[in-house]
Amino acid sequence: MIATEKMKVGEQPTGNPMEISVIRIQGSGNGPRVYIQANVHGAEVQGNAVIYQLLEFFRQHPPEGDVVLVPLANPMGINQKSGEFTLGRFDPVTGVNWNRQYHFDASLIAPFCEEYRHAEETVIREAFRGQLRQHLHERLNSPWGLTCGQHLAINLQLMAVEADIVLDLHTGPISARHLYVPEYARERARYFNIPLNILIPSDFSGAMDEASFSPWWQLSEAFAKFGRPLPVMVDAFTIELGSQEKLNVQAAREDALGICQYLQHQGLWSATQVVECEPVTQHACYLKDYKAFFSPAGGQVEYHAAVNQPLAAGEPLVTLWHFNALASEACERRDLALHCDAIPVLHFASASVNQGTELYKVMTNTFPL
Ligand SMILES: [Zn+2]
Repeated sequence: MIATEKMKVGEQPTGNPMEISVIRIQGSGNGPRVYIQANVHGAEVQGNAVIYQLLEFFRQHPPEGDVVLVPLANPMGINQKSGEFTLGRFDPVTGVNWNRQYHFDASLIAPFCEEYRHAEETVIREAFRGQLRQHLHERLNSPWGLTCGQHLAINLQLMAVEADIVLDLHTGPISARHLYVPEYARERARYFNIPLNILIPSDFSGAMDEASFSPWWQLSEAFAKFGRPLPVMVDAFTIELGSQEKLNVQAAREDALGICQYLQHQGLWSATQVVECEPVTQHACYLKDYKAFFSPAGGQVEYHAAVNQPLAAGEPLVTLWHFNALASEACERRDLALHCDAIPVLHFASASVNQGTELYKVMTNTFPL
């Protein structure tokens, strides 16, 4: 059964509501509960096409677990146009990144462990989820109120907290497909069939994926200190689906199939195999080796290095042009390269840059996933 409802996530100065559409698919059995959202950053539209393709797939292959799909998850960011471009990465009022406003208070872990150290896993799962849910409700109803961005984030998180699997669909600026993989989920991450994979630790800095897995991961680590192994009971990933401001519904089919291959591995369909993707070459690195290269000067840039193509040290990365120095003694161009081997993941979207602009992000010290 598939149902769609509107959910209010904010209110405009005119008093009109800002709403999102929430698609709920009721599972046929006892599979994992899945939550998938897209387009929290306003220019990152490709995830909506992936949700469209997922919905088509779920119609043909009804899942056993409940699935919640939220396309266009941030109406404020999506509507934030400036000229021909969409801004939508930061709340224009507070300047805070829309994907850094989710909530987790780690102080709940220690007393919870104390109370539940001998409880059964199923009891722990329900009780811990209940506490996370309660914290979110308390935050949403804070007597001091919330910012617009926090209000959106907590409303989205209240849906995500009920899920065993949380997928947040994003894109880079000009970008290859890449996946943020919590280190504990490394083995099963390959099912997404995404070429570039960044392994991340259990830290929390406000993003949806971290807000979803960090509580459960830190709970698992806390139980381990008591000598009791406890699996991390929630999986969460940020999937970066290529470049912002680009929509390719046909390509989204491939991404949706990769997601379904992972969901199949996690038991969303128990009886039959519903999907098998042609494997791609998968590289990985640790977050500490995922490096940003900042422009040493202002100017205008020719980007030479292609994303998802291994780049040897010294090979051309960019040419930085200083057209203000034409016909003078000063340097009019600089050819820049990296000092080590790397795989470019993404680069800045504009050819005009300040000194200190993040020109490229690259994976170094890579290994097979
Ligand atoms: Zn994003």
